[in-house]
Amino acid sequence: MALPKINSPIFELTLPSTGQSVKYRPFLVKEQKILLLAMESDDQKAVLTAIKQIVNNCAIDEIDSSKIPTFDLEYFFMRLRSKSIGETIDLKLRHPTGMNSKVEECDGITDSTLNLLEVEVIKSDGHTDKIVLDDETGIGIKLKYPNVNMAIDAGNSENKNQMDLATDAIIASIEYIFDKENVYKKEDYTKKELLEFIENLSQEQYLKLTKFFELMPKLKHKVEWTCKKCGCRDEITMEGLQSFFGF
Ligand SMILES: [Zn+2]
Repeated sequence: MALPKINSPIFELTLPSTGQSVKYRPFLVKEQKILLLAMESDDQKAVLTAIKQIVNNCAIDEIDSSKIPTFDLEYFFMRLRSKSIGETIDLKLRHPTGMNSKVEECDGITDSTLNLLEVEVIKSDGHTDKIVLDDETGIGIKLKYPNVNMAIDAGNSENKNQMDLATDAIIASIEYIFDKENVYKKEDYTKKELLEFIENLSQEQYLKLTKFFELMPKLKHKVEWTCKKCGCRDEITMEGLQSFFGF
């Protein structure tokens, strides 16, 4: 006789990018194992790959975890984690030291609890994904949000400097280029042509593109707290999965 099967509870979340609702089950021992193995490897690419796989396993409605924006994936994982392991995490808060310190030296550590269900994807003011680079000609770029595969690829290009990585991220995120008359679909051009286009931008135009990544929606949460030792008020903004779970 086959062993009886245990049914998992089913939950629902809303993907921040599209508003699409997705049903999911909590992660089980088999997914916990995938996560632990990746964390033990201490390799960021392995962790991202594990998160991608866990989200695919647990989503009941069909989604492609490697194609949705990274902030959707992070949000999904955050909800999954809270329904699978626990809705709160413990924080140990201390004042920033050095340049960022707003208070006198204090070694106080303050314990706090964060409810993961309060963490949302925050959209910054002034964010747009359609960036006009030149007003006169109307030349601009429509960008799309980076997904986890792009983050994994970026982790593979080890010997690159910051500027090359930023340019790679821009090129990977281009959906199309446009001017007043035409739309130039990315797939019709080679990587070399796209690189040449980006390298011929002015510094100011380039910064408009990098701003897209700064202002795009992010998993973010501001924690305001009072130091139990000196009574000083302080706040930190947690951003991305790493700041919540340390991986
Ligand atoms: Zn203090």
